[in-house]
Amino acid sequence: MTPTPLRTLLHPTQWPRWIGSSLGTRIVVLFLGLLLLVQAASFFAIRASIDRNARASITEELQVGERVLTRVLDQNAQKLAEGASLLAADYGFRAAVSSNDADTIASVLANHGERIGATVTALLDTEFHLRAAAQPGLQELLPVTQRLAARALASKRASEIVVLGQRPFQLVMVPMRAPVVVGWVLMGFPIDQRLVDDMHALSSLQVSLQVRADASAKWSTAVSTLPLATRDQLEKQAALSLDRVNGRTEAASSAAMTLSLLDNEYSGRTVMLAEHDGAAVSALLLRSVDDAVAPYRQLQLGLAALTLVSVLVFGIGSVLTARHVTTPLRRLATAAERLGAGDYSTPLRGLDRSDELGDVARAFERMRENIGEQQDEILKLAYWDPLTALPNRLQFRNAVRDAIVAAGKAGRTVSVIMLDLDRFKHVNDVLGYRFGDLLLRGVAERLTQQAVRGGDLVARLGGDEFAVLLAGLDPATDLALTGTVAKRIQQAFDAALTLEDQTVDISASLGLANWPQHADDADVLLSRAEVAMYIAKRHHDGPMVYDPALDAASSQTLSLLSELRHAVDHDELRLYLQPKLALNNARVVGAEALVRWQHPRRGLLPPMEFIPFAEQTGFIRVLTLWIFEQTAQMWKRLHDGGQTLTISVNLSTRDLLDPELPQKFDALLVRHSVPAEAFCLEITESAIMDDPQRAQATLDKLSALGFRLSIDDFGTGYSSLAYLKRLPVDELKIDKSFVINMEKDLDDARIVRSTIDLAHGLGLTVVAEGVENAQVWELLRELACDEAQGFHMGRPMPAAEFARWSTGWSTRQAMTISTGKGPDIPITLH
Ligand code: C2E
Ligand code: CA
Ligand code: CA
Repeated sequence: MTPTPLRTLLHPTQWPRWIGSSLGTRIVVLFLGLLLLVQAASFFAIRASIDRNARASITEELQVGERVLTRVLDQNAQKLAEGASLLAADYGFRAAVSSNDADTIASVLANHGERIGATVTALLDTEFHLRAAAQPGLQELLPVTQRLAARALASKRASEIVVLGQRPFQLVMVPMRAPVVVGWVLMGFPIDQRLVDDMHALSSLQVSLQVRADASAKWSTAVSTLPLATRDQLEKQAALSLDRVNGRTEAASSAAMTLSLLDNEYSGRTVMLAEHDGAAVSALLLRSVDDAVAPYRQLQLGLAALTLVSVLVFGIGSVLTARHVTTPLRRLATAAERLGAGDYSTPLRGLDRSDELGDVARAFERMRENIGEQQDEILKLAYWDPLTALPNRLQFRNAVRDAIVAAGKAGRTVSVIMLDLDRFKHVNDVLGYRFGDLLLRGVAERLTQQAVRGGDLVARLGGDEFAVLLAGLDPATDLALTGTVAKRIQQAFDAALTLEDQTVDISASLGLANWPQHADDADVLLSRAEVAMYIAKRHHDGPMVYDPALDAASSQTLSLLSELRHAVDHDELRLYLQPKLALNNARVVGAEALVRWQHPRRGLLPPMEFIPFAEQTGFIRVLTLWIFEQTAQMWKRLHDGGQTLTISVNLSTRDLLDPELPQKFDALLVRHSVPAEAFCLEITESAIMDDPQRAQATLDKLSALGFRLSIDDFGTGYSSLAYLKRLPVDELKIDKSFVINMEKDLDDARIVRSTIDLAHGLGLTVVAEGVENAQVWELLRELACDEAQGFHMGRPMPAAEFARWSTGWSTRQAMTISTGKGPDIPITLH
C-alpha cells in the first residue's frame, strides 16, 4: 500500500525531529500547519485575482483616457475652428483685408487670437502665401497649410496637430469667401501643461506628450504631469514603444506598455496624435499600478491581520485541545508504568470523564484490579503450598536467607531441620493418592504443633519433604536446642496417625545443619540439612547432624551410582555362575548367579564393592533385573545344550519391597520363554525381616508364579524356623560361616546337623554353601544334606565357561562310576 500524504503526515516516524515526540506538540503543529496552509493558499489566490482585476481596470482606464484625450483635442479644435470662422466672417476684418492694409490685418488677427487664446493667427492668400501674421516665423507652417486647405474645402473645417519649435500645436484653417475663396485664416494654439493637468485631474492618469521634429530626431517630452525627475527614464523607455507605434495605420495608432519609473510600476498606452514627414506628436497615458492596487493592499493587510488573529486563536485552541487529550494520556502512561513496576494497588485518579478517554481509564482500572487479584493469586501459588497451606520451598529459602542476614547482624545463628517421611511412596501406592494427601496434611498439622518457638517457620519443600527453620539462636546452645527439637519431632511421629479410620504407622528421617557452622549461605545450609537427612534415613538411628565426612561419603556414592548406571548401559557387568551339586550322586543340579563388575579402571570388582551401594541407593532393582534376564538367557542356552538346571538368583530387601517385581520377572520369563521353575530366588533373613508383611506379599506372588524360593545365609539372623515355615519357601541355605570349618568345629557341625534335621522336618531342601574340602563334603553327605556349593567343587566362573565345566564334570563323574570307585570329588578338582 502506498502511503497517502495525510498518512505520511500523521505517521510519527515521518515527522521532523524538532517537533519532538509529544502527541500534544504534534496536534498543535498539525492544526496550525493546516490552518497556515489554507490561509496562505487563499492569500495568494486573492492576491493573484486582485492583480488581475487591477490590471484589467487599468487597461480600461487607459482606453477611457485615450477617448477623453481625443475628445478634448477635438473640442479644442472645434472651438478654434469656430473662432477662425467668426474671424473670417467678421466685417471689420474683411474690410481690413480688402483695404489690403497689412498692419491693420495683423493687428486684427492679434486681437482676435488673443480673445480666443490662439497663439498662432495668420492670413494666407489663395496660393497659400502668407499675407499677414500676428506672430513672426510662421514660414515653416506653410507646407501643412496646403494639406489643411484641401481638407477644409471638403469638410468645411480642418485641424491638425503639428510640431512647432519642439512644441505641439493644434492648427485649424478656414476659408474666407466673398463668395469665392479669397484667402485662408490659419489659427493655432499650443497644447500645453494645462491640457495634461486637466486630463490628470479628470482621470487620475499621468499624461505626457512626446514630440519629434523629424524622423532622425529623438523623442522629447513637451509637457507632462510626471515629476521632472522621471523625464530621463520616461523618454528612454517610451522611445522604444513609440517607435513601434510610429508608422502604423491610423486605426492601430495606440499600444499598451509597461514602464518602471523611480521604482514605481506603470501601465501605459501610447496614442499617436499626429505624424507627418517624420515629425510626430504622441500622447503617453500612464497609470501607476501601485496606486491602482493600493486599496486592495489595504484589504490584504486586513486579511493578514485576520490570519494572524485566527492562528493565535487556533493555536491556543489546539494547545488546549491537545492538553485535554494528552494530560489524561500522560496520566494513563504513568499508571501503566506503575503497573509495569509491580504496583497494582494505586488507583488511577482524576479521569472521571464521560468521553472515550474516560472509557479507557475505566477499562484500565478494571484491568489493574484484575491483574492485582491475579498477582495475589500468583504470589500465593509462588510462595505457598496449596495442599498443606504451609510456606513452600521458595518462601522457606527466602526466609532462611533473611534469617541468616538478621542473625549475622545480631551475632546469632540459624538452624534448619529437614524431614522426609519413610515409605511415603508405599502409602501412596497402597492407599491411593487421596489418602496420601490426607496423610501429608496430617503430618503438616503435627509438625506445626511441634514447632516450636514463635517465629520458627515450618514449610513443605515438596513431596514428603518438610523443613523447620530455627532462627536467631544462641551460638552457645544452638545445636543442642536444634537436636532437642528434632528429637521431639521424631517422637511425635512415633504415635500412629489415624485418618478416616485407618491407622498408619509413619516415621520420618530428620537431618539438621547450622549456619554458620556447616554452611556459608542459605542454599548450602539447605543442602547440608538434606545430606544429613539422607544419612539419617540410611542409619535408622534418629536425627542426624550434618558432618562433612558423611557428605564426602555421600558424594562418593553419587559418583559411584552414575558409574554403575554407566556400567549397565555399557555392558561392564559380568554374570558368573557357581555350581550347586547333589550330595548323594555329585551331579550338577544347579548354579548360583553371582555378579561381577569389569570396571574400566579398577579391573574386575567383586560384588561387595558395589552391591551394598546399589542396595542403599535402590539401584539394586535395576541390577537384579539385569541379572535375572542374563540368567534366563543362560538357562535357555544350557537347556538347549541338554542341561536342565535350577539357577539361583539373589534378591535384596529393595527388591522385596517392590510390589511390581513379580510382574517384571514374569514379563522377562515370557520374553525369553523360560519357565519359572528354572529359577530359585535367594532371599536373606534380614531382607525379609526389614518389612515382613510386604516381603511376605511379594514372596507369595513369586511362589504363585512357580519360582523356587530359598532362605540365604541361614543362621546369621534371628528368625525362627517356625516363622520361616509360614513363608512359601522351598529351600534353606546354611550360611558358609557354619560350614567352612565344620569338620574341625564341633559346635558348627552340631548347628549344621540340627538345621538339616529341622529343615527336613519342615519339608525343605537343605543346601550348604562354603564347602572348601572333601571332609566337609563327606560330612554333609553323612548328615543327609541335599546339595552343596563351594570352592571345593567349583568357584564362581564366567557364565560362558560354566557349560564346558559342567560337561567336563559329568564326564569325570561317569568315569569314576565306571571304575566302581564311587564319587571321588577331591581328586577331580583343581
Ligand atoms: P552370597 O549370596 O552368600 O553368595 C555366595 C558367596 O559365597 C559368593 O561370594 C561366593 O563366591 C562365596 N563362596 C562360594 N563358595 C565359597 C567357598 O567355598 N568358600 C568361601 N569363602 N566363599 C565361597 P561373592 O560372589 O563374592 O558374593 C558375595 C555376595 O554378594 C553374595 O553372597 C551376595 O550376597 C552378593 N551378591 C553377589 N551377586 C549378587 C547379585 O547378583 N545380586 C545380589 N542381590 N547380591 C549378589
Ligand atoms: Ca546367595
Ligand atoms: Ca550365602
